[in-house]
Amino acid sequence: MLRTEGIVLKEMRYKDTSKILSIYTKKYGKITAMARGAYRPKSKIIANTQLFSYNEYQLYKGRNFYYINQADIIDSFYDIRERIERVVYGQYMLELIEKSMEEGQENPKLFMLLLKGLKILSNMDGDYLKFIIAYELKFISFLGYRPFLNRCVLCGNEDINNIRYSPKEGGIICYKCFSLDSSSIYLNDSLYKGINELLYIPLDKIHRVQLSAENLKRIHEIIVEHILYNIDRNKLNTLNFIQALEST
Ligand SMILES: [Zn+2]
Repeated sequence: MLRTEGIVLKEMRYKDTSKILSIYTKKYGKITAMARGAYRPKSKIIANTQLFSYNEYQLYKGRNFYYINQADIIDSFYDIRERIERVVYGQYMLELIEKSMEEGQENPKLFMLLLKGLKILSNMDGDYLKFIIAYELKFISFLGYRPFLNRCVLCGNEDINNIRYSPKEGGIICYKCFSLDSSSIYLNDSLYKGINELLYIPLDKIHRVQLSAENLKRIHEIIVEHILYNIDRNKLNTLNFIQALEST
């Protein structure tokens, strides 16, 4: 019998009354778990098997996946459901983990980041895009792909007056190196400063960072490119919903 804290990343119906869950656990990383009877009307684990639900799980390991023996709720993050923006950004945070982690790959720092992120999101009433960029930058750094911002990632040039961002190379490149990555994106002073600030600002202090709506959108596009390249994906489903929200 195994015990660990975990957060539900994804739920799928299995047969008539069961669910197969993807759970991000503190001790064992991402796991696939069977929740038998979770759809039965009187099931004791309805709340423990919904998206965002944060639980102390008692599991046992079967041949193909884990089985939930018992679950005690720590936080259902019910407040996330009160606003469409919270749901959309929250599901994006879950999908980032779900699509970038292999099964059984533990990363306690990433687990704590997700937990802290969901807690802050539960009470948010604005500034979602700024928040998500700060989150994305921490997320990708904890995965081992922190954007390289100090000097040209290709030649080491410290002159940062005329630079572009190269998602492929994972950092800024100087004007001498522009031709080496034609897909790189021009960074003016405020974009460069904005990325730096959002990389290091704690998630609960983002109000200290001042950026125009337009610059936030630009930075978000750049960081999403950086993430997709590093996690080897062409797209994330929930990103479409974020784009839809941000364009209204
Ligand atoms: Zn260079």
